[in-house]
Amino acid sequence: MDLQLSFYYIYDLSPFMKKLIFIIGCLYFFSCENKETATEITTNPDQNAHFDTYKENFVEALWKLYPGWASGIGYHKYDSILTIPNKQNREKLLAFAKANLDSLKSFDLNKLSDNNKTDYFMLENSFKETDWSVNTFKSYEWNPASYNICGEFAEMLANNYDSLDVRLKNFYLKMAHIPAYYEAAKQNIKNPTAEHTQLAIDQNIGGVSVFSTDLSEALTKSKLSDEKKVELKARATEAIKAITDYASWLKQLDNKQASSFRIGKELYKKKFEFDIMSGYTAEQIFDKALQHKKELHEKMFAITKQLWPNYLKDKKMPEDNMLAIREMIDVLSAKHVKSDSFQAAIEKQIPELVAFINKKNLIALDPTKPLVVRKEPAYMAGTAGASISSPGPYDKNGNTYYNVGSFGGWDKARIESYLREYNHYILQILNIHEAIPGHYTQLVYSNQSPSIIKSIFGNGAMVEGWAVYTELMMLENGYGAEEGATTATPEMWLMYYKWNLRSTCNTILDYSIHTKNLSKEEALNFLMNDAFQQKAEAEGKWKRASLSQVQLCSYFTGYSEIYDLREELKKKQGDKFNLKAFHEKFLSYGSAPVKLIRELMLKDN
Ligand code: ZN
Ligand code: ZN
Repeated sequence: MDLQLSFYYIYDLSPFMKKLIFIIGCLYFFSCENKETATEITTNPDQNAHFDTYKENFVEALWKLYPGWASGIGYHKYDSILTIPNKQNREKLLAFAKANLDSLKSFDLNKLSDNNKTDYFMLENSFKETDWSVNTFKSYEWNPASYNICGEFAEMLANNYDSLDVRLKNFYLKMAHIPAYYEAAKQNIKNPTAEHTQLAIDQNIGGVSVFSTDLSEALTKSKLSDEKKVELKARATEAIKAITDYASWLKQLDNKQASSFRIGKELYKKKFEFDIMSGYTAEQIFDKALQHKKELHEKMFAITKQLWPNYLKDKKMPEDNMLAIREMIDVLSAKHVKSDSFQAAIEKQIPELVAFINKKNLIALDPTKPLVVRKEPAYMAGTAGASISSPGPYDKNGNTYYNVGSFGGWDKARIESYLREYNHYILQILNIHEAIPGHYTQLVYSNQSPSIIKSIFGNGAMVEGWAVYTELMMLENGYGAEEGATTATPEMWLMYYKWNLRSTCNTILDYSIHTKNLSKEEALNFLMNDAFQQKAEAEGKWKRASLSQVQLCSYFTGYSEIYDLREELKKKQGDKFNLKAFHEKFLSYGSAPVKLIRELMLKDN
C-alpha cells in the first residue's frame, strides 16, 4: 500500500510568517551591500541559524513558483493562481534551481547539524533533478497526462480548509487560466507515448465533472450572490470547453512517431538516482531483487512441504514446486474475516501490536499520539483497502487516520477475492506496514525532528522501506507465533513471503519493462507464476509500470538498505548491538534517504 501523503511535519505558521518578513528584509539588505557583508555570512559560526533562515526563505519562494503543489500540501496563499506550463515557466524553474544550488554552496557542510546536513543533500538533489527533468527527461513533451488540472480544482471544493465562499472565489480566479494552460500543453507535446496519450484523454474527460456536477453542488450550498454564481458557471463552461478540446486534440493527433513508454537504461539509471537517492545503482537493486526472489521461493517451498500433510494429506503434492506453493497459499487464504468485520478486525489488532512491541522491547511508542481508524472518506472510495493519511506541515492539529476501505459498490466475487488476498495472515502484516510499527510509528518519530524540507521532499524509499522492514522484524521477533514459540508460525511466514514477493517482483518488473523490453505477456506470466498474483492484479501492475518509472522500486530498495544497515551495525557492534536503540536512532533522522542516515549512523559507531 502506498502512503497517501508523505508530508506530516507540524509547523507553526504565524511565527514563521513573522520571521519571514524579517528575513526577506535582511536578504535584500545583504544583496545590496558590499563584500564585507557577504563574507560575514560565510564565516559566521552559526551556520545552522543561517541555514534555517535560508530554508524558510526558500520554501516561501518555492510555493510562489509551484502554487498547485503549495495548495496540495496545505499552504493556501496562492490558491487563485494556476501556473501556465510554458517555456517561460520552465526557464523560471531552472533559474530558481540554479540560484539555490549556488546558495547551498555558501554553507559549510561540516558545521551543519545532522538534520541540516540531510536537508542540504535532499535540496541539492532536488535542484539537480529540476535541471535534469527540464533539459533531459522532458516528460512535458511525451506525457500528455502530466496536464490535468481537475484534481487541484476538486480539492478546492472537497477540502474544508477555509469557508466555501472563499474557496469558490479562488476557484473562480484560478479557472480564468485554464484555456491558456491547455494551449501551453498543446505547444509542449511532441511524439507523445500512446499509453500516456490515452491516459490523458481518460483522466481529463473523467475530471470534467468537477466543473459541472461538483461545482453545481457546491454553488447550491454557497452564500455568494446569484450574479457571482452565474459568472462562476460561465467560466466553468469555458474551462470544460478547454479540457474537452484538449482531449479531442489528443484523439486526433497525427502521432506516427509515438515515443515508447519504456524510458531506456540511461534515463532509468538517472531517474533512480534522483528519486530513490540510494547507495545502490538501479542495476544492483535489480540483481539483488532477482537473488532475493530465488531465496523466497526456496523458503516458501520448504514451508509448503512441511505444511502439506497438515492441510492436504489426502492429496498428492504436485511435482512442480511452484504449483505446490500456489496450492498451499490457496488453502491458507480461505481463513479470512467476513466483509462486515474487516474494520473491526483492524481496530482490534492495533492495541495487540502495541502490546507486543512493548513486551518485546522493539521500539518506544508514544501513547499520547493515537491513531484514528476510520472508514475511508468518500473521495477515496474504491481506491485501496487501507492507507494512512497524516496532517501536512501546515495542519498542526490534524489527526492521523488509518483509512479502511468499505467495499462500497463491489460485487460479491470481488469482495471475496479481496478478503482472500487480505486474509487472516496478510491483514496482520498490512497493519504492521500501515500502522504500528510501520508508517504511523515512523510519522510520529519524524515529527520529533521537524524539518519542513523533509516534509516536502521526504524520501519515499526510506518511508516505504521502513514499513516493509518492520514486517520482517516483527515476525523475526515472534509476532504471529504460537504460545511458547519464539518465531511466527510457518503459515504466517509463508504468507509473509508471498507478500514480500510483491515488492521484490515490482522491482524486477519495473526495471525489466523500462530497460529490458519485457513484453506485456511476459510481464503477466512473470507476476502470475513467480509472484502468485491473480490476473487482475497483474494487469493493474502492468498498467502502473507502463505509466510510471522507478517508483515501484522504492519499497524493495528502501527495505534492502535498512536491512543491510542493521546487519552491518550488528557485525560492527557485536554484543553491544541493541535492536530497540537501532530502531529509535534510525528513525530520529526523519524521512531522509537511507544512504545518508547510514553515513551518519556509521560515523557515530
Ligand atoms: Zn507503504
Ligand atoms: Zn472466503
